Amino acid sequence: METVEIELSENSYKIDIGYQFLSKETFSGLLENKEVLLVYDKNISGPVLSHTESILKPLSNEFLTIGLEASEENKSQESIDIIHNLLLEKGFSRQCILVGLGGGIICDLCGFAAATYQRGVNFVLIPTTLLAQVDASVGGKTAVNHPKGKNMIGAFHQPIRVLIDTSFLLTLPEREIKSGMVEMIKHGIIEDEDYFSWLESNIDEISALKEPLMSEAIRKSVKIKSKIVSQDERESGIRAVLNFGHTFGHAIELVGNYKEYNHGEAVALGILSASKLSQMTENLSAENVERIQSIFLKAGIRTTTLTEIDAEDLYSAMQSDKKKEGKELNFIVLEKIGKAKKINGLNKETVLKAIKTSLLPS
Ligand code: NAD
Ligand code: ZN
Repeated sequence: METVEIELSENSYKIDIGYQFLSKETFSGLLENKEVLLVYDKNISGPVLSHTESILKPLSNEFLTIGLEASEENKSQESIDIIHNLLLEKGFSRQCILVGLGGGIICDLCGFAAATYQRGVNFVLIPTTLLAQVDASVGGKTAVNHPKGKNMIGAFHQPIRVLIDTSFLLTLPEREIKSGMVEMIKHGIIEDEDYFSWLESNIDEISALKEPLMSEAIRKSVKIKSKIVSQDERESGIRAVLNFGHTFGHAIELVGNYKEYNHGEAVALGILSASKLSQMTENLSAENVERIQSIFLKAGIRTTTLTEIDAEDLYSAMQSDKKKEGKELNFIVLEKIGKAKKINGLNKETVLKAIKTSLLPS
């Protein structure tokens, strides 16, 4: 097990990463004599849940659990109410601790419930999907969906500890693994060429979840995200580079009615569009674009669309992206692999051209 420190002015914390390391000692100093509520994903298989419960229960003063069905529909104010109602019913104090065990949905829900219960209580995350391990559990963004938009109601609230056990990934469907890998690859693309090259060399083993490479890949990825987050906890500047490929990606999810493409699949295609755009605006080399495309192919990640996507439709879908500033769309572009920046004020023709040259059906 290895630890990555997240350094934030008031809210520093540790992320422990390893293979089957969760034990009573892992939680020492965190839960003793506290009221603990475990919020878990009902899809988590029996042994993982019972192992976690068997550690948490004896340590805590009072122990409750809530199992939720992880879906975007349930990532809602109603689920937050269910959690808060139980906490109030059982008289949990401001010293209580919430523990989230599940993917990004449970992490975001548990974090937002903790952020808002009695103006904020502590929480610990045990992410169980690759996407949650390298992305959703790092950085302190918590949220629920609103009928008017995804993640529209939320708060910045940092956990006090994150525990990443890579053995939990063994039961995760392949499509979910790939979705997480897209975000890992993105971390290399925007910030660290050495990590990107290392991924290129080890992509087969990582795709197959080989240890210790998988833990190492997650650790490197978490370090990159936490370095960026540490510089800009509330996303007023540099943190925006983490959205590379996401302005296009969110629009692809939307035109696919959130059914055809999952988040990672849409972001992978979005990264290809953003790379084409970077060729036009930043002279990103053709060789760099090629490397990005081939790492996706080697990882078994789709680089073509399922059906033809109309560039105008996609452009309209982008207008509803919440990250637009004022009326202008902004984009993260690459100068080269490892160096990203934000630009805005692009004309529509340039964006349409990037879409048309990158998003082609197979
Ligand atoms: P998810 O939580 O829905 O998990 C995906 C699927 O895998 C679900 O069906 C879940 O039940 C199942 N699952 C979870 N762990 C499993 C395991 N170990 N074995 C087998 N099945 C398992 O989705 P996700 O992809 O983890 O996260 C997506 C969510 O994360 C979105 O709501 C997104 O908005 C959010 N997110 C948040 C941040 C952030 O910074 N807060 C960043 C990225 C994404
Ligand atoms: Zn993403």
